[in-house]
Amino acid sequence: MPINLTETTAGTRETRLGSITGYNGDLQDLVHQSRCGSLQDRERCFSQSSTCLSGCALGQVSGIRDVAVINHAPSGCTAMAPGVDVLNSQLAAKIGVANNTVFVGTDMNEQDTVFGATGSLKEIIRETYRRYHPQAIFIGTSCVTGIIGEDVDSIVAELEAELPVPIAAVHCEGFKSRIWASGFDAADHAVMTSIVKPPQQKKPVLNFKNFFESARVEITELFANFGVKTQFLYQNSTVEELAHISESLATVCICGTLGTYLGNALEEQYGVPYVRTINPLGVTGFETWLREIGRVIHKQAEVEAYLAKERAIYLPQIEAVKKELTGLRAVIGMGPGYTFEVSRVLQELGMEVVWGAAWHYDRKYDNDQTPPALNYLVKNSPANFKLSVADQQNFEILNILNHYQPDLYFSRHPGTTVWAIKQGIPSVYVADEYMIFGYKGTLNFAYAVLDKLKNRSFETNLAARVKLPYTKWWYQQANATFLKEPTR
Ligand code: SF4
Repeated sequence: MPINLTETTAGTRETRLGSITGYNGDLQDLVHQSRCGSLQDRERCFSQSSTCLSGCALGQVSGIRDVAVINHAPSGCTAMAPGVDVLNSQLAAKIGVANNTVFVGTDMNEQDTVFGATGSLKEIIRETYRRYHPQAIFIGTSCVTGIIGEDVDSIVAELEAELPVPIAAVHCEGFKSRIWASGFDAADHAVMTSIVKPPQQKKPVLNFKNFFESARVEITELFANFGVKTQFLYQNSTVEELAHISESLATVCICGTLGTYLGNALEEQYGVPYVRTINPLGVTGFETWLREIGRVIHKQAEVEAYLAKERAIYLPQIEAVKKELTGLRAVIGMGPGYTFEVSRVLQELGMEVVWGAAWHYDRKYDNDQTPPALNYLVKNSPANFKLSVADQQNFEILNILNHYQPDLYFSRHPGTTVWAIKQGIPSVYVADEYMIFGYKGTLNFAYAVLDKLKNRSFETNLAARVKLPYTKWWYQQANATFLKEPTR
């Protein structure tokens, strides 16, 4: 379905992409159901709390330098602001720039909830502009504004005519989607509709969407080999740079879950090709990804020369570590992009994935196709394996870990890793999005896994001293029974 930039909201992943948070089955079945259209979300009998999409939405736009984010919400919804501010300052300092972005909340109270607060919102927007002179203003919405029908879009339209900077609503009402990644799309929609301008001229630039750009230097050097500059999004980007991303040669993203909306929107609206391959994690991922970029930017020969040189350095080393990892059994719990990407890498390193848990699942991306990482896995996985979709439901993960007793648990979210460690399972926290990037990242990752296996004292000691709340009865429950049967 085409992306509609004439609307003020992106729509949720549930409605656009058929995304779900409840599933229990296996790889072959998930792909089969996705393709034939029979996949249904399944409710839980019991659910732990999860994450609000506004964190993803407002976290993304606040990474842009020198903007104002105004969260039109009760104060609790803006509790993320100090963390976001520290993160942005540190990531800006790391590359030697200043980020003067401000993150404020309108502190809605009971009276605002009954009578509305559009009047005070207008004054807060004006005052924020007067004090900080931001280059753009993003207005976040919340459960409260959504429930009382606060007309934020009209306020934006009114003040756009009054203030000399772009203003956009970021529609991230917490209750509208169970899938926090819908917040990425809300941020992209706001950027596309308020900041990005039609192209004037093509430039030798690659749009590079990522989270925290820890490999900014390496990636900049990598593409300099091909005469191409990189525009990182959104962390540390400027409003002026974003205005011109429609002029780039292509858009790539470190994670398909993160990139689908912006990549497809730029392609549909301005003809900027969106590179849709498996991601650059592991050897196969890196080579497939770089070759496709090379094709799109017409640098195939240069890419092949680069790969040949790097392969000679790293592949023998990767093969050597692989011998020590072969046969290990692993459970994974990550966002859907990384669950399927990292499953491929673990298999590449000789490990067996016995269970993959994805925090949500997108039946398709915005180009109407199933995610490339899943397509790759279903064709190339040496064996079918169990899969579940659970929005960080730790109680399910611990049941799975207890049942399978894997050699390792891999997660990108610390909240699940710590519970696995308390259970005595060696765990690898794949926090950095670039931890397995390219040949060098794959080698370092393989060594990190080996280190974790060779020294198990942390989880052994912790597990011996911690009493978990789960009973034997709980561990004996079959994981599939946590979900209700779908209503057809
Ligand atoms: S928007 Fe809703 S779900 Fe999100 S933090 Fe606020 S109250 Fe909670």
